[in-house]
Amino acid sequence: MKSRVVIVGGGIMGLTTAYNIALLGERDVTVIEQGYIASGASCRNAGHFRVHFWAPENAHFAVEANKRLLDFASKLKWDPEIHRGGYLWLLYEEEQINVFKRMNNELWAKLGVPGEILTPEKISEDYPYVNIEGVIAGFLGPQDGKMNPDIIVFGYRKKAEELGVRFLTYTKTEGIVLKGGRVRGVQTDKGFIEAEKVLVAAGAWSNELLKAIDIDLPIEPQRKELGVTEPMKYFIKPLTISMKTGAFIGQHLRGEILGSLDYPVVKGLAPLVNTLEWIRAWAKEMSELVPLVMHLMFLRAWSGYYTMTPDHSHILGRDPEWPENLYIATGFSGHGFMMSPLAGELMAKNILYDEVNNVMKPYLPTRFKEGKLINETMVIG
Ligand SMILES: Cc1cc2nc3c(=O)[nH]c(=O)nc-3n(C[C@H](O)[C@H](O)[C@H](O)COP(=O)(O)OP(=O)(O)OC[C@H]3O[C@@H](n4cnc5c(N)ncnc54)[C@H](O)[C@@H]3O)c2cc1C
Repeated sequence: MKSRVVIVGGGIMGLTTAYNIALLGERDVTVIEQGYIASGASCRNAGHFRVHFWAPENAHFAVEANKRLLDFASKLKWDPEIHRGGYLWLLYEEEQINVFKRMNNELWAKLGVPGEILTPEKISEDYPYVNIEGVIAGFLGPQDGKMNPDIIVFGYRKKAEELGVRFLTYTKTEGIVLKGGRVRGVQTDKGFIEAEKVLVAAGAWSNELLKAIDIDLPIEPQRKELGVTEPMKYFIKPLTISMKTGAFIGQHLRGEILGSLDYPVVKGLAPLVNTLEWIRAWAKEMSELVPLVMHLMFLRAWSGYYTMTPDHSHILGRDPEWPENLYIATGFSGHGFMMSPLAGELMAKNILYDEVNNVMKPYLPTRFKEGKLINETMVIG
């Protein structure tokens, strides 16, 4: 088999890139996925999007990515359950208020996405279900919101397929095949596929493929768990995040209350399980933030991998020292779903035209050896 472009990984990154390449007129694209589409992190995430990042590069990237996400969602025939209910950070220390105020004035307002500092009284008035014990202020980011990631994934797949993109599911890429310093194709468990260009968008598994051809990027899978309650009438509007514990709680439009917490990190491609200890800690944290949920039935929990980088920011493009025509898009560090609508567009232009614009430049893989890390620490989901 032959395909001009091969994309390894049928997660949101592979899908948005394939869709954008096809939109630009190149239809000879094949996405190879070892399981079902989005069986990695892309159907295991919390489905939230935000523009409020600490790093200017990421905040700007997210603003642009969100525009594309909302625009794409508006073209779907299915309801992606998007709601811009905001993010509400609960602040417990003066220093936290100072940092949010500074970021708001110096970055977010300038990007056109200012938030608002709320007093504890205002939090209680607007969100009476929140436990404000110890809370000295809140920060509301009204531009942020939530979606149903399964519908968005399905939309990108469907639209890419309509444009002629091929999907090979349950097909594992065993290796990237090189010849004479350039990519020749990929070896899969179902045979060799000749390709001019190969994009590795294999999420937490990307390093397995890259290490075999002597490329070692600083990316590390970390298991992250999520839990949901039985559905109930919609009442938790903004995703509510504790700056004391790092726990967050939100509610999807279909009623389930969803959340997670800071928990001892399990590194590497560890089994995707959930433990009773985690569920116990989760129930405690969720009831602490919104005491009402104490009375709800726990419905289910699942886990997936965050693909972490040292600067908690994604890696896009290629290093000129790599074999020719090899590209990478991964390392989203827990916020890749919201970033992918733009990342896919940038990668499509990078793969087809070698274009690297100013928005993409900070995310090149060369930043690690050049010591040009992005200063991002706000990892939530
Ligand atoms: C619990 C949790 C909550 C999250 N919450 C949010 C959130 O609220 N908002 C947000 O924006 N992001 C969130 N994220 C992060 C987000 O889900 C990811 O950043 C995003 O889905 C990454 O997409 P991807 O395509 O890079 O990777 P993936 O979705 O993991 O896709 C990679 C794909 O490659 C396939 N693959 C790997 N190796 C091979 C191979 N050798 N051959 C063929 N196929 C292969 C895998 O099966 C997988 O499907 C969350 C993640 C988790 C785990």
